[in-house]
Amino acid sequence: MQVKDVLQIIDRWAPFNTAAEWDNVGLQIGDAESEVTTIFVALDADEAAIDEAADAGAELIVAHHPLIFQKLNKLTAQDSVGRAILKAARYGINIIAAHTNLDIAAQGVSFHLAERLGLVEHKVLVETGAEQLLKLAVMVPVSHEEQVREAICTAGAGHIGNYSHCTFSYPGTGTFKPEGEAKPFIGEISKLERVAEVKIESILPQRLLANVLAAMLKAHPYEEVAYDLIPLANKGKIHGYGRIGYLTEPLSTEAFLSKVKRELNCEFVRFAGYYPEKVNKVAVFGGSGADFIGIAAREGADVFVTADIKYHQAAEAKGLGLLLVDPGHDITERLIVPALASFLTEQISNQAVRVIEETPRQAMFSFC
Ligand SMILES: [Zn+2]
Repeated sequence: MQVKDVLQIIDRWAPFNTAAEWDNVGLQIGDAESEVTTIFVALDADEAAIDEAADAGAELIVAHHPLIFQKLNKLTAQDSVGRAILKAARYGINIIAAHTNLDIAAQGVSFHLAERLGLVEHKVLVETGAEQLLKLAVMVPVSHEEQVREAICTAGAGHIGNYSHCTFSYPGTGTFKPEGEAKPFIGEISKLERVAEVKIESILPQRLLANVLAAMLKAHPYEEVAYDLIPLANKGKIHGYGRIGYLTEPLSTEAFLSKVKRELNCEFVRFAGYYPEKVNKVAVFGGSGADFIGIAAREGADVFVTADIKYHQAAEAKGLGLLLVDPGHDITERLIVPALASFLTEQISNQAVRVIEETPRQAMFSFC
């Protein structure tokens, strides 16, 4: 397995092209063609993580926060980023960052935060887009209809909601005349053929197109396969920042704060803004989500769990009747480490490759 295969697997869950414009994601250090036997998953690819990864024999770190974020003018051991890059290069460790693409992904950072806090019916808080959907129509000789249908559906076409293998087929007649060097599956050179064919139509997300086409071409018996690809106005899966949903039963502010501490396993939380009698509707945003205080309030949240809240943002929330709860940036995000590690373990069929997680760290902020 190579680094580029891991990039492809992550891209299926959290497409890198959905990351924010200001972000820096993907392969940050290393060589996409280098071999990987151990993958180390961490929140930050800092010096400590690189040391731990090297001790474990890992050739690749997959981290949430990009090590290279701001533009680098020099690469020296005089600052922590430079030291980490030099160390990774010295150990031959590749580094991939999955940052805002992992925030935005369905089942990304905020999804896991919402699940841990026991929210129900939770949905995206701030929509940033939807998956582009395509229609694929392929003409297949009747003898190979099932084989091609199975291939495209297994590769990811034909998913609508909780249904898989959604296709529509209708019979017709295909015509073709093999010319020159052609090696036809059916027919002879320079003779017009008429073949009983089936047109199979199905739907697929743009990101799975290469997979589906490769599977279709492999399963199809013809030398030249006739197919159409049509962009659709139907909206695919919505993606975006944060989640908003409900508690299974309303709680007092005090009980909610205890719940956050218990579920996120943290010693303290900061809270500010307006203190409601009861908390029922909850917005969450793993990491720095204070820019979305207005949206959380507008969506009717009683409380917004996020991090890195400033004084004026707390005042804004108070004015909007919203309680802010800040357990700490890393605390709201660290659930993604085991989630990312199990996703990679699930997706990697190569038994020789192992995925490990960083040892749990002390929270960045302490109190006394
Ligand atoms: Zn973060």
